[in-house]
Amino acid sequence: ESIQEPFQVDESIIHTSTSVGVVIGNLNHLTSSDVLRDADSAMYHAKNSGKSRYVLFDAEMHLAALKRLKIESELRNAIKNHQISVYYQPILDLQTGHVVAFEALSRWFHEELGFISPAEFIPIAEETGLIHEIGLYVLHHSLGKLKYWRTLDERFENIAMSVNVSSQQIENRNLLDEIEMALQENQLPHSALKVEITESLLIENAELAEQLLSELTKRGVKVLMDDFGTGFSALSYLHKFSLSTIKIDRSFIKDMEANDKNMAIVSSIAFMCEKLNLDIIAEGVEEQVHVEILKELSINQAQGFLFSKPVDSEAAFALAQTTNR
Ligand code: C2E
Ligand code: CA
Ligand code: CA
Repeated sequence: ESIQEPFQVDESIIHTSTSVGVVIGNLNHLTSSDVLRDADSAMYHAKNSGKSRYVLFDAEMHLAALKRLKIESELRNAIKNHQISVYYQPILDLQTGHVVAFEALSRWFHEELGFISPAEFIPIAEETGLIHEIGLYVLHHSLGKLKYWRTLDERFENIAMSVNVSSQQIENRNLLDEIEMALQENQLPHSALKVEITESLLIENAELAEQLLSELTKRGVKVLMDDFGTGFSALSYLHKFSLSTIKIDRSFIKDMEANDKNMAIVSSIAFMCEKLNLDIIAEGVEEQVHVEILKELSINQAQGFLFSKPVDSEAAFALAQTTNR
């Protein structure tokens, strides 16, 4: 309670909150770090359930922590044992109906644990630093596929590969060189690659981010802002950083036809992006009615289950061949 009291620093009033993890010691705790580890888990639960609260460590949390540990240690092997694969989801031009890009999405099939969603393992990869290796793998692998497709069918010259880059990855100062190498290795022009970033990357690493983004843009690699609308969505980012495209998060597209607020948000984003000369991709398009609305709003690119789920490389190749006649 006393930490919650606002306090003054120079001209600013600072508000702060506290998340507390509580653990009751038992015979499983052999050392002080065992106790701290569980208290830490409880504290992260407190943070994830909205902060400004305390959480008592319990058995379920213990199981979740064990599963996490297992995923973490198996993830190291997954990369080594080539259990990570890449799926591709098409991004379509709504005017022509053609595939203009594929988003590369990582997949993990574990012999014992089964399919593990990237929503589960990517955050762990980010916390443990394994994201560098996974990111690099996805980059090389997906560009390799695109090159291969281009050698088989010239229509793929008009299709780009969109790759997700986590904010941790830009702390690696070689990232630009690594991107450059992946393109060169596959003899692909810069326009073949698009990079998807999230706002957290801009917030956590503003300076590094701007250097990287402007350099990529200068070379002709387009930078896409992913999940737009879910974070701070600070409008200043849109002109401060070198971005080419905004991907509107699927939570706004979902029931746009029935939900006036979502509709208002999407049309405002469309209006704003037009003024700022930014392209837009609508994510999570699941129904034809969304397509009609998007067209009316002059949003020309979309991605979603209506067109295709993320699929393996053979299916992706076949899909683009039939679509881009
Ligand atoms: P994302 O970048 O926002 O990717 C789009 C996610 O939305 C994918 O989930 C995709 O399957 C899902 N999606 C696409 N269309 C629809 C739709 O119409 N309806 C619904 N309900 N969902 C749709 P996925 O493949 O499970 O990936 C989850 C997240 O994991 C991604 O979200 C991305 O943030 C992260 N991720 C996946 N692969 C990588 C990677 O190689 N590197 C990094 N850094 N992150 C990755
Ligand atoms: Ca993405
Ligand atoms: Ca997204």
